[in-house]
Amino acid sequence: MVNSFPAKRIAIFGSTGSIGTQALDVIEANPSLFSVEILTAQNNESLLIQQGLKFNPNFIVIGDERKYQKVKDAFANTDTKVFAGEKALEEVAGLDCYDLLLAAIVGFAGLKPTLKAIECGKAVALANKETLVVAGDIVMQKAVENKAPIIPVDSEHSAIFQCLVGETRNNIEKIYLTASGGPFLGKKPNYLVNVKRDHALQHPNWSMGAKITIDSATLMNKGLEMIEAKWLFNLKPDQIQVFIHPQSIIHSMVQFEDGSIKAQMGLPDMKLPIQYALAFPQRVPNKFPRYDLKKPSQLTFEDPDTKTFRNLLLAQEALFKGGNLPCVLNAANEIAVFAFLRNRIGFLDMTDLIERTMHQIPFIENPTLEEYFDSDGEARNFAASLIKL
Ligand code: NAD
Ligand code: MG
Repeated sequence: MVNSFPAKRIAIFGSTGSIGTQALDVIEANPSLFSVEILTAQNNESLLIQQGLKFNPNFIVIGDERKYQKVKDAFANTDTKVFAGEKALEEVAGLDCYDLLLAAIVGFAGLKPTLKAIECGKAVALANKETLVVAGDIVMQKAVENKAPIIPVDSEHSAIFQCLVGETRNNIEKIYLTASGGPFLGKKPNYLVNVKRDHALQHPNWSMGAKITIDSATLMNKGLEMIEAKWLFNLKPDQIQVFIHPQSIIHSMVQFEDGSIKAQMGLPDMKLPIQYALAFPQRVPNKFPRYDLKKPSQLTFEDPDTKTFRNLLLAQEALFKGGNLPCVLNAANEIAVFAFLRNRIGFLDMTDLIERTMHQIPFIENPTLEEYFDSDGEARNFAASLIKL
């Protein structure tokens, strides 16, 4: 197919991660559609340098300032400019040299650069769901004010987004978010109490970064996704229902007011939603493996076991109550997952830590951005204080 548009100029924030590297694969396969203008990473300077030398961006940011000199030296004989540190991330997000920012940083750290891009009216392909969990009202309002399109990358939200193309005048009755159930589907607390990090990192269907893999094992990921969906699609909490669908073939569904249900299907491969978000509104041909409708022969759906996976209940509480509670939930969860990954707390301790933090931090009904930042900080400090040394 001859492409008559100029290449879309892409900034990848979090280029060394699972989403970032897959996005670069998509870009490499479509050089006439995309060019790489900005790459950023926190720690992995070797991979960042390798990516930079290959894709020749305008700007590179390494988060960890101790690694600045090494990265700078690697680009001494090129046109690529190198910066370091958290502030540089925001500054580079405000530059004019790109069209679309892929928000692929993990956690709260992704919020500020993403907001900056939105304030500059840039299109954002959003993988970083925590941005909407923490401050969804402010982020979406700024997106409207600045006419900044937000295109979901998360597979469930990409599915819903795809189902909604051509339906702008029609009301959604309900959405069904599908969840694989993670590696511990069907297990009970007496099993989970002994689960260790390496086991929890083995996801049956998806290969992802460490934090989201643990979130998938605890079902917190689905809770964060309910909140993400609320903001992306302007839904009421009770319009969002979660189903466990272990085959991960239907990526989510929309039910309209006439009862009609649309689903988006495909093999579980993040490259598809990433490619869709980068190229939107175009669909781009590719050679990804195709889903064989005869295999597996059954697609199943069941309610999640929220008695066992209580993180999903906590996230639902935050979804319904709103205010700064989702922000507090997210901060406590980031501390909990961090501690679990370092074998400092057990699998079920994560839930207790989040619950206690949600009860501790004062509730704010309509927080300002500053108050969200403060709530995040307070929740982190309190959650960290609960972890025994
Ligand atoms: P990852 O851990 O593999 O990569 C994270 C990236 O962010 C890396 O490039 C890292 O250098 C950078 N980073 C980490 N901490 C940072 C900080 N403090 N400041 C600046 N940069 C930092 O994570 P991932 O799995 O690629 O996930 C990225 C985001 O996409 C998450 O929000 C996740 O929930 C979401 N997401 C991921 C997947 C997936 O399949 N991996 C699917 C759906 C949504
Ligand atoms: Mg998802």
